[in-house]
Amino acid sequence: MATVRGATIIAESLKQQGVEYMFGIVGFPVVPIAAAAQKAGITYIGMRNEQAASYAAQAAGYLTGRPQACLVVSGPGVIHALSGLANAQSNCWPMILIGGASPVVQNGRGAFQEEKQVAAAAGFCKYAHAVEDARRIPFYVEQAVRTSFYGRPGAVYLDMPDDVILQQVEESDYRKATTIPDAPRPQAMEENIEAALTALESAQRPLVIVGKGMAWSNAENEVREFIERTQLPFLASPMGKGVVPDEHALSVGAARTHALKEADVVFLMGARLNWIMHFGLAPRFSRDVRVIQLDMSAEEIGTNVPAEVALVGDGKAVVAQLNRALDNRQWFYPAETDWRSALAAKAEANQTTVQPMIEDDSAPMNYYRAFKDIREWLPENAVIVSEGANTMDIGRTQMPNSLPRSRLDAGSYGTMGVGMGFAIAAATVHPDRPIVAVEGDSGFGFSGMEVETMCRHKMPVKIVLLNNGGIGGGMDELPTDKPIPVSILTPRARYDLMMEAFGGKGILVEDPKDLRSALDDAMAFDGPALVNVLLDPRAGRRKTNS
Ligand code: ADP
Ligand code: MG
Repeated sequence: MATVRGATIIAESLKQQGVEYMFGIVGFPVVPIAAAAQKAGITYIGMRNEQAASYAAQAAGYLTGRPQACLVVSGPGVIHALSGLANAQSNCWPMILIGGASPVVQNGRGAFQEEKQVAAAAGFCKYAHAVEDARRIPFYVEQAVRTSFYGRPGAVYLDMPDDVILQQVEESDYRKATTIPDAPRPQAMEENIEAALTALESAQRPLVIVGKGMAWSNAENEVREFIERTQLPFLASPMGKGVVPDEHALSVGAARTHALKEADVVFLMGARLNWIMHFGLAPRFSRDVRVIQLDMSAEEIGTNVPAEVALVGDGKAVVAQLNRALDNRQWFYPAETDWRSALAAKAEANQTTVQPMIEDDSAPMNYYRAFKDIREWLPENAVIVSEGANTMDIGRTQMPNSLPRSRLDAGSYGTMGVGMGFAIAAATVHPDRPIVAVEGDSGFGFSGMEVETMCRHKMPVKIVLLNNGGIGGGMDELPTDKPIPVSILTPRARYDLMMEAFGGKGILVEDPKDLRSALDDAMAFDGPALVNVLLDPRAGRRKTNS
């Protein structure tokens, strides 16, 4: 009778449950798991910091629709990866973290890297468990993976002690689990479908807000049909961008502030009224705004603003229900209304405010001028990764998405340092698509060492660094007569040379007239490239906000 090691059982169980990618860092005691994963046909990407690896795993989960894995060593490895669990939970993205652990037989003795890992992870997870015997691995992997992506997605953790990883068991002593089917897609109550449409018909100033829950549920075809048929104005959340193309005529992204403030009925689709949406409260929203809320999570309904109509269910399934119900109504929001004209006027006024900055060719350049060239250069099917303060906020308005699940940013948790892990995930999952990471210099710095990972794996990630030399702004030179101000980084730092150090292409751009050709050279290069764009250290956002 053949015997099998715990490491092999976990690798094969993960593969069976749809895990195709594993991001991690090996060391004691997880080397055998990574090796077994490769043998089982899982793509293993070795990274440089567990934080970035755990960010990569969750982005891969969001992009593929099933949880993907992060593998880390005991103690500090698990603790570093907690950032990723927290970020995944906050974004409602699936991932499975597998932490090596010191041997069970040494528990409590002060073992090498001994830590209360399950307790530490549990606070940032939907599910956290230790595996106490190799024969139970298929059971725990099934339970963890299923919990991660059924219902509202989130992070899960499995603790793998060294002696369980090395445990040899008879093949006849354990049973494979069943393979988890795709997540169920519950529908909303039919009476609520009708109530939602009736509420929308009664609106003077309706607004649909499309969030990343719709991107996650692959609802793009249904949402596009719904918007087309109802002709309702819509606003995408940051990562809801692309579910319906940003350049769609019904998008009111360019009049965001006005749309939120004046809408009388908001249809919240797979988005939360959290800080990103100003809590749905006055003065950023109308005091008596009526809310129709579609969410997979019943617990979310009514957060901050009571929902007049609740559509609890899966985004794709529920919008399909709405589309069917529209067959009996023949209703659409009229073409000529004061609301449409007001939104169009605001959008135009906002464009007029930023136009002079877009056209400003002085060096060092401002954000809007940089984005002018980036926008024209961006391939339509690019996956856009973005983080930073102004870089991300301005970039969100200046870089359109026409495809769903094609923007990865600091997200619900507002995490800086996610960009490199996200870009690595995107390059791994979508080797056929261009991956463009537009990064602030501070945001990039958190995980800048991952350029070595990109170079080693020849990932064609194109990093555009908008380098203002600081957190929110920099200085022309470091002061010599007083302490360095807290938000200041090295002026004109040569991040492009970091990329060169590992065999990628680095390009420094100081004048806007050189930007476009630098971007083209980066795109043409067969491998990772970093365009280091020196900005005016005092560049900022447009002054008025409407
Ligand atoms: P955004 O940042 O785009 O507003 P959030 O992450 O705040 O998005 O909200 C996404 C919402 O989508 C969460 O409340 C989550 O429960 C919900 N959600 C998750 N899965 C689904 C699904 N399959 N269908 C609909 N909504 C979903
Ligand atoms: Mg900066």
